[in-house]
Amino acid sequence: MRQPGPWSARPSPDLAHEVLAAQGAAKNTVLAAAASLPGPVDGRQHRVGSFSILRSWAGIAARHRLAEGLGVPVVIDNDGNVEALAEARSGAAAGCHDVLHVKVSAGVGAGLVLGGRVDPAAGMAGELGHVTVDPVGRICRCGGRGCVETVAGIPRSSPRSPRPTPVSTGCPR
Ligand SMILES: [Zn+2]
Repeated sequence: MRQPGPWSARPSPDLAHEVLAAQGAAKNTVLAAAASLPGPVDGRQHRVGSFSILRSWAGIAARHRLAEGLGVPVVIDNDGNVEALAEARSGAAAGCHDVLHVKVSAGVGAGLVLGGRVDPAAGMAGELGHVTVDPVGRICRCGGRGCVETVAGIPRSSPRSPRPTPVSTGCPR
C-alpha cells in the first residue's frame, strides 16, 4: 500500500480519504482500519505520544479522528509493534509467542510481542533509535544527541530502501 502523504501532515479524515482514493477503494467498502505510525503511540490513550518524534501528530487522538472520518472502527499503533505482530502471526516468527522485531530503515525501532500480544502499556520501549550511543555525536531529528539513528539506519535521501531480510525463520522449539 502506498504510504500516506508526508508525515508533516496531521491525522484527518481527508488524509484517510486520500489513502483510499490512491488505492482506488470506495469508503463504503472499508469495514475497519489500522494505522501503523512511525512514532511512539500511547496504547491506552490511542494518541501519538511524543513531541520530539512525529511532531505534527503528537498529542492528537489519531484513532478517534480517523474513526470519525471513516465511520469504522480504527486501531493505531507504532509501526514496530505492528510489524512485530505481523511477523509473529505469519512472518519469520510465525508460531512464536514472544518476539522482538528490530526495524532498521529511515528510522530505527523495535516492536515487542509477549505471549502472542503487543503490550499496550509498552509505551516508548521500542524507541531503540533514540537511545544515546555517542554523547558527543550528531544532533538527531528528535533533538537528542548521538542517538542510534544518527549512526545507523538508511538515509532518508536514499532513492530506494533494500528489501528486508529476516535474520531467522520459525520459532525455536
Ligand atoms: Zn533521537
